[in-house]
Amino acid sequence: MRRLGCRKVADAVLESIRKRTEVFTGEGNSVPSLAVVLVGEDPASMTYVRKKAEAAASLGFMHFQYNLDADTEEKDLLALIDELNARDDVDGILVQLPLPKGINTDKVIDRIAPEKDVDGFTPVNLGRLAIGKDAFVPCTPKGIMKTLEYYGIETSGRNVTVIGRSNIVGKPMALLLMQRGADATVTVCNTKTKDLKEHTLSADIIIVAAGHPGTIDSSYVKDGAAVIDVGVNRIEDASKEKGFRLTGDADYDSFTDRDVSITPVPGGVGLMTVSMLMENTLEAAIRRRGK
Ligand code: NAP
Repeated sequence: MRRLGCRKVADAVLESIRKRTEVFTGEGNSVPSLAVVLVGEDPASMTYVRKKAEAAASLGFMHFQYNLDADTEEKDLLALIDELNARDDVDGILVQLPLPKGINTDKVIDRIAPEKDVDGFTPVNLGRLAIGKDAFVPCTPKGIMKTLEYYGIETSGRNVTVIGRSNIVGKPMALLLMQRGADATVTVCNTKTKDLKEHTLSADIIIVAAGHPGTIDSSYVKDGAAVIDVGVNRIEDASKEKGFRLTGDADYDSFTDRDVSITPVPGGVGLMTVSMLMENTLEAAIRRRGK
């Protein structure tokens, strides 16, 4: 088994962002700025938001944090987004998902100005990605492409099976792999897929984003293939200080004696998501006010 750890990949990306930011500010521009909106107190969301704030701080980005109560009304959240859209000192806006029940997520995402949509979730950016135009690309799929590149895992002419078709992972992942330049032959699976194994065993690269531990094990993967595990699942574990441990969607240990490359969880593509958000924020700043 070859472990595709992402810490050094993410650090290399952050270092490159730091250097580009120095050039950007050296040209007289103020530092990039990111507004993060969290509604409610979902523990996983709070952790993600904290990591994003830490990354922004480490790069010297301006960071505005909005913590709204879980019972915030949709109209008030929309009003905040309108305000952030209009503010000149905000380059990127991120609304942490999932939102509490009662708030229409599509409506909220659609309200974010596409030029500040650093998550790449608005219909404008996803649509532009679909037709191969310049767009903000969702951070997790973008980070996976960087990881494949870093480890020299070729996509052109190869079979890639994506497990999951969500708008934030599976679908944009498939679109990126289909782009000219990436040139993969892509299969996208969902819960109605009749024989998942048939599609994974023919794949050179498997991207599993199902949200269920044990979705695949080594019996689903052919020799020489790569597995990118996107899943982040909390498993109760009394031996841990927090009472849980994190695991991916692939049964990592089953690959130990196999000729397979695999990203771990934790320490895998989750690290890339945060660094890609910082890259998108810098891009937003450059596009909005760069010289
Ligand atoms: P999601 O919206 O729940 O989508 C899961 C997708 O997987 C759905 O399309 C579902 O099919 C499909 N699926 C589930 N079980 C399957 C199976 N056995 N066979 C085939 N397809 C199956 O989840 P998501 O938002 O895409 O996230 C997926 C996972 O990635 C979660 O664990 C999430 O926490 C993690 N994640 C990690 C990061 C990161 O930074 N590392 C970022 C985002 C998400 P249907 O459409 O038929 O239901």
